[in-house]
Amino acid sequence: MAKHKTHFEECDVLVVGGGMAGTGATFEARHWGRDLKIICVEKANIDRSGAVAQGLYAINCYMGMQWDENQPEDHVRYARNDLMGMVREDLGYDMARHVDSTVHMFDEWGLPMMKNEKTGRYLREGKWQIMIHGESYKPIVAEAAKKSADKIYNRIMITHLLMDESQENRIGGAVGFNMRTGDFHVFRAKTVIVAAGGASHIFKPRAVGEGMGRTWYAPWSNGSAYALPIAAGAKMTQMENRIVLCRFKDGYGPVGAYFLHLKTYTQNANGENYEKKWYDQTKELVGEYIDHHPTPTCLRNHAFIQEVAAGGGPIHMVTKEAFQDPHLETVGWENFLGMTVGQAVVWASQNIDPKHTNPELTTSEPYVMGSHATCSGAWVSGPEDLSPPEYFWGYNRMLTIDGLFGAGDTVGGSAHKFSSGSFTEGRLAAKAAVKYIEDKKADGINVSDKQCEDFKTAVYKPLETYTVAQNEITGGTVSPSYISPIQGLQRLQKIMDEYVGGITSNYMTNGNMLKRGLELLDWLQEDLEKVGAEDYHQLMRAWELKHRALTSQCVTEHTLFREETRWPGYYYRGDHMKLDDDNWHCLTVSRRDPKTGKFTMEKVPVYHIVDENEKKKAS
Ligand SMILES: Cc1cc2nc3c(=O)[nH]c(=O)nc-3n(C[C@H](O)[C@H](O)[C@H](O)COP(=O)(O)OP(=O)(O)OC[C@H]3O[C@@H](n4cnc5c(N)ncnc54)[C@H](O)[C@@H]3O)c2cc1C
Repeated sequence: MAKHKTHFEECDVLVVGGGMAGTGATFEARHWGRDLKIICVEKANIDRSGAVAQGLYAINCYMGMQWDENQPEDHVRYARNDLMGMVREDLGYDMARHVDSTVHMFDEWGLPMMKNEKTGRYLREGKWQIMIHGESYKPIVAEAAKKSADKIYNRIMITHLLMDESQENRIGGAVGFNMRTGDFHVFRAKTVIVAAGGASHIFKPRAVGEGMGRTWYAPWSNGSAYALPIAAGAKMTQMENRIVLCRFKDGYGPVGAYFLHLKTYTQNANGENYEKKWYDQTKELVGEYIDHHPTPTCLRNHAFIQEVAAGGGPIHMVTKEAFQDPHLETVGWENFLGMTVGQAVVWASQNIDPKHTNPELTTSEPYVMGSHATCSGAWVSGPEDLSPPEYFWGYNRMLTIDGLFGAGDTVGGSAHKFSSGSFTEGRLAAKAAVKYIEDKKADGINVSDKQCEDFKTAVYKPLETYTVAQNEITGGTVSPSYISPIQGLQRLQKIMDEYVGGITSNYMTNGNMLKRGLELLDWLQEDLEKVGAEDYHQLMRAWELKHRALTSQCVTEHTLFREETRWPGYYYRGDHMKLDDDNWHCLTVSRRDPKTGKFTMEKVPVYHIVDENEKKKAS
């Protein structure tokens, strides 16, 4: 172990992950904490990291309050509808009332925004989206963070959170290792803001073998945002609410601009509008939710999945009409060049010119996220002026561990934040973290050298395991005494896919399947003690796998707990096929005991804050 040098750093605000939320947090922490020491630690390189690494073509969350295009209440209604009622309205409202100011800063910082020539306003793609030339989006927000932080550490993966030893349930920092030098890094911190993105690759992806990594969600997002707080004993919410995306087949190219801007539409192989065909069947399952406008994302997926299962596939996006217009044709292609170049390459390789051939769509494998059309993540306190008592414990976006904050995909209950809302949530978390320090809540933290040394031993164990076990390799990578990260990952994906509602079972699961899945996940955890890493890159893979496995356990526990099918099209509980508002119009909250590894589950009321006053007045 001595061969790995240890670096110690002390700071006030430690931001884990320099994506959209992390850059927002780093920027805002400096605004409120002029004299504080602010550190941001990023697994990749902050200039091109996270889900926005390649750039984006649209900012998906902008109210336009200055022109009265939308108000925060409208966004809460929208997110609530899309998530079949299950959102934290306090968090959503709080994000929405601040998100415009974030977007205006992006504009000032030089992000090229498209403008409506007639009105001079930002060019709308849809009710919530505005269009940008967004290739440079990530370097621009990274620059804001770099100018704000005392130091940005790139290429360090945070593996564990440190806990204060003088006061129970209080954060003390985090540890990780540099994937290039192999050095160990200890960050003792008064507050930690986890902003480490969502989780891809916990379910078996459609593309395997040489195509592995071709997923919709960023392949490097490995669930650290969830595993770090889960391992420390923080409460999580809505982890069953995984997301399935309908996207262009094989390249996962986005469809939003096609629907909204190009006005393309979908049809089955016979040229029929299949969504109508499934109306009655869907109404049987979810009742009046199918009549809501816009149709919730999961229910549109549901019609797609049913149609394909009934033999109506492939489903196509009708592009042939729109692409006859040279302007729309350019927009259609540029949409990919700005963020999913791979889709253009896939079409070229498959001889698809969308002007002459309608491309296929598919539904993806599930992902775990907190910022998209889904809201899995940590159970956090809301803002003091909005949150009911059950949702408020002192500091906005603080988890159930004192001094530990979250933002972006990390935070559960607040869907439809997207890039701008995640940056905004980072800002909100940082402001609260600074206040926490100013209120002297972080005084007297003690993190012993022993705690750090114990983590160091654990972090490098996969290297030790490999060093010994490589002598027993019987052929290729086969060894009786260790498993490689890729072997462990494929085993995890198989369990999640087959038992927890992945693509193999057409997103279907049930109580018995989930219980069996949990058993298999437990055994996987045992074997992960034997994961081996031959170099630092594989060590990162080993820790990514461990974080994915813990996230998966939590997802499975939640899926077992919620005995209904709340989001058909995301997953189905075959033993409880219907939405059940009488028993399950609530949020699910879990906690894993760090000592025993056992999860406990509870139901928490979902409060409909927006429109509630109107209802009260009316009654
Ligand atoms: C395919 C796709 C398309 C999208 N399209 C749009 C769009 O058009 N418009 C829009 O507004 N939004 C879009 N979004 C949503 C937007 O990208 C996310 O909402 C936003 O990036 C979430 O911010 P975040 O900070 O939580 O996660 P991220 O931005 O992903 O950042 C997480 C960061 O944490 C780092 N990290 C992870 N683990 C660790 C660790 N253990 N230690 C240190 N660092 C770590 C990662 O490297 C990464 O930099 C899209 C998302 C995806 C996946």
